[in-house]
Amino acid sequence: MHEKSLASALCSGNCPKCRKGNIFKTSIFNLSGFSKMNAHCSNCGVTFEPEPGFYTGAMYVSYVLTLVLFVTISVVLYFLFDNPSDWVYLTAIVVGAVLFTPFSFRYSRILYLHSFGGIHYDPTAV
Ligand SMILES: [Zn+2]
Repeated sequence: MHEKSLASALCSGNCPKCRKGNIFKTSIFNLSGFSKMNAHCSNCGVTFEPEPGFYTGAMYVSYVLTLVLFVTISVVLYFLFDNPSDWVYLTAIVVGAVLFTPFSFRYSRILYLHSFGGIHYDPTAV
């Protein structure tokens, strides 16, 4: 049987144990529900909140993701528009941060759960 790779499970937001069940309830493009998580995996039943307040640490992952976005936007603007004025940087970064929020929120939690959740991949999980 074909096993899903770690990269594929991370990209699609799947359970760290079985790599099949979805961590989040809705699509990332659902603006009213992108932050809603399933409590347990629908496939293997593992809990997605190993301990209370577990996702507080995901803020640090989100910080790094957002910092990478800011640097990328700044470098692209600098080289594409030959060092535009400050308000262009500020506007682009604010708009970029708002548009990036669902991605940052979800992938910081997905990466944090896979890295520090203490859940190991089990290809035999139902
Ligand atoms: Zn699972």
